[in-house]
Amino acid sequence: MRVIEHIEKRDCFISFEITPPLRGGKVTALLSLIEDLISLNPPFIDITSHAAQVVYEETPSGIKRKIKRKRPGTLGVCALIQHKFGVDAVPHVLCKGFTREETEDFLIELNYLGIENVLAVRGDDNGYDKPLDGSRTVNRYAVDLVKQIINMNQGIYLEKELLNAYPTSFCIGVAGYPEKHFEAPNMEFDLMRTKEKVDAGADYIVTQMFFDNSKFLAYLDRCKEIGIDVPILPGIKVVTRKAHLTYLPRFFHVSLPAELADAISLAKNDKEVEEIGVEWAAKQVQELFNKGVKGVHFYVMQNADVVKRVIKKVGI
Ligand code: FAD
Repeated sequence: MRVIEHIEKRDCFISFEITPPLRGGKVTALLSLIEDLISLNPPFIDITSHAAQVVYEETPSGIKRKIKRKRPGTLGVCALIQHKFGVDAVPHVLCKGFTREETEDFLIELNYLGIENVLAVRGDDNGYDKPLDGSRTVNRYAVDLVKQIINMNQGIYLEKELLNAYPTSFCIGVAGYPEKHFEAPNMEFDLMRTKEKVDAGADYIVTQMFFDNSKFLAYLDRCKEIGIDVPILPGIKVVTRKAHLTYLPRFFHVSLPAELADAISLAKNDKEVEEIGVEWAAKQVQELFNKGVKGVHFYVMQNADVVKRVIKKVGI
């Protein structure tokens, strides 16, 4: 089923986002994580995508620049979720690191697998741009990717004269930023870029994680004011480590309210941080539901336990 139909049909839901294992990793741990999550009856599960990136390695002959794709496997994990567990999988599709031709092939694979949902995101600059020969093209922004998917939904593939081109029917999610995307010069600019994704055909928005509900609620209002009328799912992350205090702002460009930041910094160890994180997330989720939000999207990554504790506390 399409994500948008799940959102329409359910009164209250929790969805999840997980990452494929590191290259060389076993899928067994991920399988038990998925089983754990499925016991919570999610309408769908997102699986992140990861482009190749530049890494520098020290070798006896000096520092070597290497191109590595650390987490392959998005397609395989999606196929497992969809067909072994019977839950709708939402693979993330990226601009960065993939040509439009590769993206079309990926979408064809998804279509054959009966996966009808995707989250279209640009991806971050990771220091590596794939060299292109003249016959290959790239999507620069997520809006370009949305347009490519919408074209396929209309039977328009990259090769224009394709005979019997079959229209796909992907439901498309895109990213939104209650605290502004870090590259955008200001919030208004960023909101208009998000509106362009919706105007191009995106069906719904999932937000970056946030720890202050007032920022999300203000974001909802601003989106409404400028005519963004698709569902917006709030992204929730449970803080579990002291290192999150600096890691989350550095990598995700989000802020932590003073009360939460102070509590984490005073905590004796990660166990205490986890307690604080569970309590905080439960308060956030409870308040969002009280304000009429229908569903929340948890950034689970590899640990379902804390999310389960939050859900139990909220009593969903
Ligand atoms: P865009 O919508 O393209 O926006 C990127 C920036 O460009 C913004 O500042 C925007 O204001 C600006 N912009 C957009 N269009 C234009 C234009 N025409 N002219 C000028 N500026 C413009 N990353 C991964 O690598 N893998 C994942 O699986 C993944 N999943 C994610 C899931 C969610 C829910 C979220 C919120 C993020 C995810 N990301 C993922 C991170 C994402 O790739 C980064 O945040 C990235 O920097 C921006 O992606 P975007 O789709 O929002 O880009």
